[in-house]
Amino acid sequence: MSNPPKQVVISKNPYSGSGLREPQLMRLTKRLSELGLEPCVFTDRDALKQELENETFRRETRCIVAAGGDGTVDDMINRYPGVPLAVLAMGTENLLAKHFGMPRNGGEVAEMIAAGNVEQMDVGVINGHRFAVMASCGFDAEVIYQAHLARSGRITKLHYVRPIWKTIRTFPGHRLTVSSPDLPEPVECDMVVVSNVSRYASNLPVNPGSRHDDGLLSVCILKAAKPLDLIGYSLRGFLMRSIQSTKISRFMTTALTVETAEPVRVQADGESIGHSPCEISILPASLSLIVPARWAEEAKKTRLSGIRAVRAQQLPPLPAGQPE
Ligand SMILES: [Mg+2]
Repeated sequence: MSNPPKQVVISKNPYSGSGLREPQLMRLTKRLSELGLEPCVFTDRDALKQELENETFRRETRCIVAAGGDGTVDDMINRYPGVPLAVLAMGTENLLAKHFGMPRNGGEVAEMIAAGNVEQMDVGVINGHRFAVMASCGFDAEVIYQAHLARSGRITKLHYVRPIWKTIRTFPGHRLTVSSPDLPEPVECDMVVVSNVSRYASNLPVNPGSRHDDGLLSVCILKAAKPLDLIGYSLRGFLMRSIQSTKISRFMTTALTVETAEPVRVQADGESIGHSPCEISILPASLSLIVPARWAEEAKKTRLSGIRAVRAQQLPPLPAGQPE
């Protein structure tokens, strides 16, 4: 059997997170080299695309590291489906990295890559755009659109205050019609959130039962999502770690559509990606994500067997690295 490739391509989002995370990128490249791997950092997305279009370069690539936030992960899974992915969390929310307990330290991310525990996770698709964490249509997608319009560089949670306020004042509200083979009939609502993992911004439990490995999307239908309703749900989510309401229903499915009388904004993994109507589906076990060894061990114990069983794959270990 041939050795696994040693080249580790790092895609660094120049705008992600705070500059305080920069040393972690240096720790990542240094430790990768010590472990006998070959890091190569790209901040230019077009240059990376050009290189990865080269068959030889791609074959020699062990994985891509998304060094950024959830938007960088989203970008990588859309541009390079099929290439194994690792994450160095440098963003504002880092929902995917938190879900899998990814190390924040660049050196530990390098060791995780060298260990090579791979989890085959599901990927959602909305209007042809892949998402790893969640997608939605309605108020929060409008906020994300406004935040990105105002973005001039690095973004923090504070950057969302003004767009939220603007959206509260100006968003007219739209009626959405959600249809799915798993609904007895189409449902009218103000907002819909589709989750692939249980995390949502600020750790709100919007779809707390969502799993990345069950081949299903978890859907939260908010029949009322006016600003006051959303404030109420958020407070309940923060204080009680649960959002239950007669105005909210949830279901699981492999496909749904969202229709609206006029176009309504859509976001995926915190990126504004257009507007309704939406066709949403799932690609089971289609992303090879490099995960921490402790997570892979834990996952073996809790793996679902009834819906779809997926075993974490173990890549062959690399030769031992040079001691520090
Ligand atoms: Mg799922």
